[in-house]
Amino acid sequence: MSTSESESVTFFDMAVAVCPGCGTPVAESGWYGIDMESDVECYECGKVFNMKKNAVDRATLSVVLSKNGRIKRLGVEEKIDLEE
Ligand SMILES: [Zn+2]
Repeated sequence: MSTSESESVTFFDMAVAVCPGCGTPVAESGWYGIDMESDVECYECGKVFNMKKNAVDRATLSVVLSKNGRIKRLGVEEKIDLEE
């Protein structure tokens, strides 16, 4: 990704899981959801489920920031394979 001199880039590891109750996709930090195998609550139906067991994808996002640290845009930097 090309950036101008006034921008900087940081990265965010995120994962997506599908709620087993209602099928709503839920996004969470990859470290929290997959590595820590955390339970999360579906914002649609309120069901609590395990993020790792219901994960469908994980990726590193690039976060482009203005020079004062404001988030300007996001992109997919790298896809991360989910472990079986
Ligand atoms: Zn749900």
